[in-house]
Amino acid sequence: MSGIYIHIPFCKQACHYCDFHFSTSMGKKDAMLSAIKRELVLRKGEFKNEVVATIYFGGGTPSVLSTEEIQGIINSVYANYSVVERPEITLEANPDDLSEDKIRALSKSPINRLSIGVQSFFEEDLKMMNRAHNSKEAKKSLEIATHYFSNISIDLIYGLPGMSNQRWEENIALALSFGVPHISSYALTVEPKTALANFIKKGIIKPVDDEVASAHFNILLREMEANGLDAYETSNFGKPGFYSENNTAYWLGKKYIGVGPSAHSYDGIRRGWNINNNAKYVKALANDQLPMEVEVLSETDRYNEYVMTGLRTIWGVSLTRIYSDFGANFHKYLLQQAEKHIKQELLVVENDTLLTTKKGKFLADGIASDLFMINLSE
Ligand code: SF4
Repeated sequence: MSGIYIHIPFCKQACHYCDFHFSTSMGKKDAMLSAIKRELVLRKGEFKNEVVATIYFGGGTPSVLSTEEIQGIINSVYANYSVVERPEITLEANPDDLSEDKIRALSKSPINRLSIGVQSFFEEDLKMMNRAHNSKEAKKSLEIATHYFSNISIDLIYGLPGMSNQRWEENIALALSFGVPHISSYALTVEPKTALANFIKKGIIKPVDDEVASAHFNILLREMEANGLDAYETSNFGKPGFYSENNTAYWLGKKYIGVGPSAHSYDGIRRGWNINNNAKYVKALANDQLPMEVEVLSETDRYNEYVMTGLRTIWGVSLTRIYSDFGANFHKYLLQQAEKHIKQELLVVENDTLLTTKKGKFLADGIASDLFMINLSE
């Protein structure tokens, strides 16, 4: 089973923390949609032996598109690829785009999962992040969306400067009050060259505090467990049957084609990434060229990726798979490197699988980098 990711590179305004690829100028939207459809046609050969199980509209803000425009892209997927009978089709959507009319129209389209970018229900947080919606819109969109869709995910950000534990608890409680079966929640990270980084440098916003983020993460784990949402990945929590199929496939190393500017692709051996420039992307596709760079992953790259994603998920890192796919040296190296983390009770081996403990979950990325193989000859 494989997936198709569609990057819609438009946003109404720039959130202060964001380093994704997007443009706030929508003048070239039609040309962009034509280019995305063209890319779907040009790349269909890559999936001639694959069946698409998930289609994911990410961005950017895909909900700036009309339902007809979204339907047009889905039609292109169906016209060029084999698709399972009931694919998971997700649309990332922002609350300010989700009027009742829009939600109703989306519910009649093939979209069957909404991932709503709430981030916080508090006005001061939303303003600090420069989100395009306000608290009232966030709540209203969820009230309506839960009426039309059963498969909904809410995005929340924690560790915001000035966010108390209590405010974070209230945010989680509000999200859960809508009865959604899935929550994605990330610690605020300060990416270089963002407005947030600049504000922190100038002292306008307080720096992000790792201890606050860690406390918020523990609150998140506690509340998700208490409310029956499994922590199936460091940042993703879902009721059984509502894990994101798209993301799960990605973490399990399944193939996917990413179309649109800046989108990434993976075929099990190679990773590709499209140019992150809207004008150049559109121009290349107008000439039937794929503006993509490709790298063949080395054995070391594949090992490192597996360790990284494995430690973030409940599926962990299978030691048997490490041995069979990468050989005895990698297996030995992994166990050697893991030893100190096992002693510190950050990692544990269960059923021949290396897993992060509750205590280690928040530190999964740092622990993984300690287990990486560094190949100096590459
Ligand atoms: S809406 Fe999403 S993609 Fe757009 S600027 Fe904000 S965080 Fe970035």
